[in-house]
Amino acid sequence: MKYISTRGGGTPQTFEQVLLTGLAPDGGLYVPAELPHFYQEEIASWKSLSYPELALKIISEFIGDEIPVQALRKIVIDSYAQFDHPEVAPLTELAENDFMLELYHGPTLAFKDFALQVLGRLLDYVLLKNNQRVIILGATSGDTGSAAIEGCRHSEQVDIFILHPHQRVSEVQRRQMTTVVGDNVFNLAVEGNFDDCQSIVKAAFADQSFLPEESQLVAVNSINWARIMMQIVYYFSAALKVGAPERAVSFSVPTGNFGDIYAGFLAKSIGLPIKQLVVATNSNDILHRFINGNEYSTNGLNQTLSPSMDILVSSNFERYLFDLFDRDAALLKDFMSKLNHESQQVSDEKWKQMRECFSSARVDDALTCETIAKVFCDTAKLVDPHTAVGIRAARECNADPSTPMITLSTAHPAKFSNAINEAGLDAPQLPPHLTGLFEKEEHYSVVPNDLAAVTEFVIKHSHS
Ligand SMILES: *Cc1c(COP(=O)(O)O)cnc(C)c1O
Repeated sequence: MKYISTRGGGTPQTFEQVLLTGLAPDGGLYVPAELPHFYQEEIASWKSLSYPELALKIISEFIGDEIPVQALRKIVIDSYAQFDHPEVAPLTELAENDFMLELYHGPTLAFKDFALQVLGRLLDYVLLKNNQRVIILGATSGDTGSAAIEGCRHSEQVDIFILHPHQRVSEVQRRQMTTVVGDNVFNLAVEGNFDDCQSIVKAAFADQSFLPEESQLVAVNSINWARIMMQIVYYFSAALKVGAPERAVSFSVPTGNFGDIYAGFLAKSIGLPIKQLVVATNSNDILHRFINGNEYSTNGLNQTLSPSMDILVSSNFERYLFDLFDRDAALLKDFMSKLNHESQQVSDEKWKQMRECFSSARVDDALTCETIAKVFCDTAKLVDPHTAVGIRAARECNADPSTPMITLSTAHPAKFSNAINEAGLDAPQLPPHLTGLFEKEEHYSVVPNDLAAVTEFVIKHSHS
């Protein structure tokens, strides 16, 4: 399998090359040069597979023969053995044809574990084989950092540096990162906001001349293709449980950087019968305004109760636009470059095409709290604020009550206890493996909001 950049530059890359990098050199994102396709009979034959075996069927097509199947099997089995539910991604019925897919049974209680547990092991495999070391550099507003550290901390070939905005992530999220002990794990608390952290990381990736020779940076945010690939699997797993492929299903996805829902779009593209894909946004609603009104423009960032979706421009949306524009890289480049100064539109035909696949809704903090309270009242289930945005959007957009609608539940409610309290409910306990989190010693370094300060820190502490 070969991968190409959405901006049309460079030569096609192997899976391994794409795994070990971030953006393409031309600033684009990597996508498969061609998608595999699964026919209905084949999908139907997967109904009794375990989660790791199902994952193996799907991801093998995207990796090809670069990693032997026995090695890949061990990687996925070991990854999903870290989850505390035997089904890995259990499905809960909230009402008739209204389901919630629990993606929070991994080590850090958010769906990002699905990809990052595997990513850490894939890196380990490839780097050991090549006798190579890399430096992971990432910025987090909360969930990505802890899942990345948890997924990569055992890798002897990797040093991992995660930037978070000093005093601006929740205590649970911070402690999940800073209480991990390992001489290859470094938490940097940047004196700035999340955007500042992200700008530093972007600049470091764009000019890696500060690194020693032979060393390179690897991205762990959802621009890394391997993350998207791993997320395709649970769309199949959930759909199979409610009657696919003989029957179509719909999904509602709490959306920030568009990585999770893009995996759903890919699941549909490779053969899963998905009727509706609902883009659920909080009041950071650029995607909702585009899908609903054909207006693609940024406005200011809002801080909400669902912080993992507080995003100005969704990086993975570019991957979808590339397909919408029939893979015309020049057109895409032009569209992306204008976004900073003017509102963008697509043709009526393209807009219609987008709306045939995606619906959307915007759910503000008041509606989020109302939904948390309503779901608890109706089902005795506590849902986290991101999930609540998804559930509310699902109910608003559902065009066909006879089709199962599955909302992705992206985090455990204990991770966002402030929102649960605001909804008038008592926050739940952290699961047993996280008790003691508040007593453990924390390890992090406060650094100024400055690229040179961060690169110096990386050089000083990496083992490359
Ligand atoms: C990361 C995250 C999201 C957003 O996912 P994207 O792939 O960025 O769209 C939603 N909910 C939670 C809890 C998250 O951690």
